[in-house]
Amino acid sequence: MRRALTLLLWAWAGVCLAQQQPKEQPRLIAITGVSVVDVESGFNVPNQTVLIDGAKIVLVSHPRNVGIPKHAVRINGSGKYLIPGLWDMHTHVAGVSARPEWGKHLLPVFLAHGVTGIRDMGGDLAALKEWRRTAAQIPGPEMIVAGPFLDTTAQGYGSPQEVIAVTTPEEARAAVRKLHAEGANFIKIGSRLTRALYFAIADETGKLNMAFTGHVPDAVPVEEASFSGMGSMEHLFGVMLQCSSKSAELRKRLAEAKDRAERAKIADEIEATFSEEIAGALFKEWAKRGTYQTPTLVWTRNTSMLDKGNPADPSLRYVPEALRKEWSPANADKIVSLAGRAFYARKLKNDLRLVGLMHKAGVPLLAGSDALDPFVFPGDSLHSELELLVSAGLSPVEALRTATINAARFMAQERQRGEVRAGRVADLVMLDDDPLKDIRNTRKVHAVFSRGVYYTRTELDKMLNDAARTFGAVAASPTPAP
Ligand SMILES: [Zn+2]
Repeated sequence: MRRALTLLLWAWAGVCLAQQQPKEQPRLIAITGVSVVDVESGFNVPNQTVLIDGAKIVLVSHPRNVGIPKHAVRINGSGKYLIPGLWDMHTHVAGVSARPEWGKHLLPVFLAHGVTGIRDMGGDLAALKEWRRTAAQIPGPEMIVAGPFLDTTAQGYGSPQEVIAVTTPEEARAAVRKLHAEGANFIKIGSRLTRALYFAIADETGKLNMAFTGHVPDAVPVEEASFSGMGSMEHLFGVMLQCSSKSAELRKRLAEAKDRAERAKIADEIEATFSEEIAGALFKEWAKRGTYQTPTLVWTRNTSMLDKGNPADPSLRYVPEALRKEWSPANADKIVSLAGRAFYARKLKNDLRLVGLMHKAGVPLLAGSDALDPFVFPGDSLHSELELLVSAGLSPVEALRTATINAARFMAQERQRGEVRAGRVADLVMLDDDPLKDIRNTRKVHAVFSRGVYYTRTELDKMLNDAARTFGAVAASPTPAP
């Protein structure tokens, strides 16, 4: 998404950084003796001093090279690991699954899990903009937002704020211009767009130098979507079909299929005719062209297991009560049918294989969870996504890149964020254990730096506990957080 938004985004981030001071904060902080995880090289650099001035890293160096200013507040980082703040590149925090009024309680939950940035992939633009405006009062991640989906119908969406239904190319162009004028950072498209609508959106966003991302519509082959400049593709929709040796024939039959049984039969054929050679050539192209993929493996996995959701899952505490009820395993069939869940289980198996091949070919990947779809938790599920990326064949540092430097590159902000390096924004997470040894260690969040504020574990636990109390998951008495 080179053509995306750099100036706009950065100007906005600058305004935000200037406004942020939700708690009393020393201007100058020196973290000493910390292991800096260099996501670019893939090494830990031990015993570093990291000097942070306001919201910016001003120096990262060995202590012998650094004189720490007297007025700096020192934080002992020995035995800890410092990573760039994590970005969840696929969330819905204001619509689709989440009600906008939950936002100010949900956003701190992301932060408490080390998620210092989110790309919101569809929801109520007015609510998202309001949170940005009031960001000084709410600890939470940075946000880039799409606002409503563009799709051919509002059917299947929760509220009119989540979707703009377009039926002609003129309407599609007008919707793009409207969202651009209203401050959406990029356009999110839905699966049902016709070819004419899709190409109208591709053209109009191009004129506005605005990125468009989302589901590759069923009517558009993924190969063509990449050629037409789609910035990132979500959920790997359409990729298996493109990798079939009979893709043209099967695509036609799929479009004409009358029922689920027929589509299931075609899915069998798609799997049986999968060609690693075709996949390899396609993925090499995507690597060359910089077509980003957000596999959202955790969404696929958890959707396949809706009937097995664990009511004692600690992450459920940080989910609003209405959602907890809706997600009850007894409701699984109402959310996704048994056949649908079987489809997702199969999709997960295929997607893990696709991600492994994409990674080998050098396709840029983004970590995205699809929180708050059923059983996709704010913050926690991003860590599950990193674990699934590792099980698809990425090393821990390669998985870490998908939520840090890759996200920054995607936003054309790699000079501003995504690494622990002088000159970068100090959105940072201090971990108790080495994430390069085991990706699950990204869960061991010791402290978070966000928008110039340092949050200790105690403060993060308080944020979690406040959310749990608001969402009715713990008693109103001050119960210690987990
Ligand atoms: Zn989504």
